[in-house]
Amino acid sequence: MLAYQLIERKRNGRRIEPGEWEELIAAYLRDEVTDAQMSALLMAVYFRGLHRDETSALTDAMLRSGATLDLSHLTVPRLDKHSTGGVGDKVSLVLAPLIASLGAAVPMMSGRGLGHTGGTLDKLESIRGFRTRLSLSETQAQIDRIGCALIGQSEEIAPADRRLYALRNSTATVESIPLISASIMSKKLAEGLTGLVLDIKRGSGAFLPEVERGIELAQMMVSIGQRHRVPVVALITAMDRPLGRACGNALELEEALHALLGDGPPDLMRVTYALGAEMLVLGGLAASRDAARRAMEVAISSGKAADKFREIIDAQGGDAAVVDDPSLLPQAAVCELYFAPRAGFVATIDPRRVGFGVIELGGGRSKPGDPVDHSVGFVIATRPGDLVREGEPLATIMARDAAGIDAGRRALDEAITLGDEADYPLELISHRVTADGVMPYESSDTPVELAAQP
Ligand code: URA
Repeated sequence: MLAYQLIERKRNGRRIEPGEWEELIAAYLRDEVTDAQMSALLMAVYFRGLHRDETSALTDAMLRSGATLDLSHLTVPRLDKHSTGGVGDKVSLVLAPLIASLGAAVPMMSGRGLGHTGGTLDKLESIRGFRTRLSLSETQAQIDRIGCALIGQSEEIAPADRRLYALRNSTATVESIPLISASIMSKKLAEGLTGLVLDIKRGSGAFLPEVERGIELAQMMVSIGQRHRVPVVALITAMDRPLGRACGNALELEEALHALLGDGPPDLMRVTYALGAEMLVLGGLAASRDAARRAMEVAISSGKAADKFREIIDAQGGDAAVVDDPSLLPQAAVCELYFAPRAGFVATIDPRRVGFGVIELGGGRSKPGDPVDHSVGFVIATRPGDLVREGEPLATIMARDAAGIDAGRRALDEAITLGDEADYPLELISHRVTADGVMPYESSDTPVELAAQP
């Protein structure tokens, strides 16, 4: 196999066969295909797309590039959730301990920041000492012991996604249905799951803003799951504004801790409960989505979910005291309020601009291996549709110096627009996609009783 020929073939819009994908991925991991060649191929895929069979073949080749977790001895369901990426999206940090506290095994493999979006691993690493690089045997042992591990791709598990993910992040080749599908599903299938729930973002801050493309992505991943006998449920959720208030690694971790302790922002809790309900029903741990939601509320109010997060942090070498004292997280050197430049309705809070703003502050990478400043970011107190007065504080900028504050202010000037009329944001959760088809999302599975007709 010559990488040159495969790049040329894809560049010209022709197919690469399953055996060739397998060889290509294996050769890349042996460094016989260079990053430059792989970048060219990724860009060709970005422009030309892949046939469904090629997406499946690429997913399988990436899955087979490493070992898979063997959790088949467990009697409990093995469940996970993955998001296609958003700004302020800290749902995984809440959901993993929450669902593990209710009896499922949650072997959660996440990523780092990608494009303008934040990554769960970077957020977790704001906790002093927290190790996201566990070996296969450490991961399996931890799941056996406490039911959850929060890890990243490694040389052992999903090594192809580890390298391709970092390469896509620096070559503007993220926004592609086949590449996102293969990235997510190769990792998730390596976890040995019995059920998977996907959070597919739509709106201006999503990698695929149009709802039709989000649904196409969901259907692709549902069908890959079906082929591997892993039931997949996908919810389409809004990313036309950041989720919750905090954007930036330690700030998001702190907000997730508040959520686990019963004080999370309403939009974050709604998405968390909706995805969690799907997980618990898929795993047979709740008879209905309504029952699942009640169980999650009790796990949070009783402190059981927060206890599970303490256990996970402790098991992975982190300082679990952070759960009760978030001031132990990295703190920004300077912070400044951001004020409304005029009165009006908040028209947009552009998540993409906010996400790139966090990167400019030092909270993300512009090339592989860049260090990340966990302390910086924004806390945005306002929501689209709010009526604000001139001079009212809308957000706080956390930065490492005065230049960072200036960059943060510029980002918010561009991200937050005020208008004279209220504009309605996208519905927070709009569709549910399963092997049975695409349905409008209903939050409750209890039919609403109609009032008796006179
Ligand atoms: N999350 C992933 O793991 N991969 C992608 O490509 C996008 C989101």
